[in-house]
Amino acid sequence: MEIFSFEKIARNDRAAERYLLDSCSRAGPIECASCGAGKLYVIENGARRRCARCGRSFRPWSGRWIGEMKISARKLLWIVKLFELDLNASSISSETAVSYPTVLRALDVIRRSIAGAPARGRSARRSVAGNEPLIGSLGASIPGVQIYRTVADDAIRCILPMAGGYIVGIDRSLSYASVSYRGEELPIVDRGERFPFWRVYCSAGTGFWQYAKERLAKHHGVSDAKLPLYIGEMEYRYLNRGRRLFDLLVERLCGRIDPPTRSLPLISD
Ligand SMILES: [Zn+2]
Repeated sequence: MEIFSFEKIARNDRAAERYLLDSCSRAGPIECASCGAGKLYVIENGARRRCARCGRSFRPWSGRWIGEMKISARKLLWIVKLFELDLNASSISSETAVSYPTVLRALDVIRRSIAGAPARGRSARRSVAGNEPLIGSLGASIPGVQIYRTVADDAIRCILPMAGGYIVGIDRSLSYASVSYRGEELPIVDRGERFPFWRVYCSAGTGFWQYAKERLAKHHGVSDAKLPLYIGEMEYRYLNRGRRLFDLLVERLCGRIDPPTRSLPLISD
């Protein structure tokens, strides 16, 4: 959505709520958040609905990602717009006069909606148990001879599927020339220059790492648990480069929070 159309939908809270309500209806019928009934009464000037069957009242976007953001409709749209433009949390906070923690929470919801991750408060960590082992190749001490070792689970910081390949981060004390995972050899792409605690390996030829590394480096303070969400955001931006993200993001945010629909990034426990 270009800026002049955006200006119309975000001119005041009323217009913003109407826009979000339309977007929610397009994403799926508005039903009682408790019992699923479709017959609802509009109450409080449209701000809430009351279920004709069970009597519970709720905001029309209960159970959807935008309901997790706990922020007025107009500010919500602005945060999504500024996220689309790739501003960081502190710039978004100062541009919107929304507190920094609230902006962080809103961005977390946006990233979770992209990743299809569980609702806020639940960890995105996943065990690698049951998957194929990661095999590291050491530089040959004898010319022509490669030494392979299985990388211990507790040394693996992350195995992140992305753009048809993998990013693997392992403990910085281990310096394999490459690692193999699921039959694919991943060369080293970062020896601790951008990510001081990791050695990073990545599928060659996807172009994704070239795109993502500078952006990821901006977020070097991200915790292991949150990193999959940032990688998910980078992957989303990469796969949708050249497209306007705002409409796509609103469509996702207006969708219901369901169990994960895509394979989540894997993080070792
Ligand atoms: Zn109900």
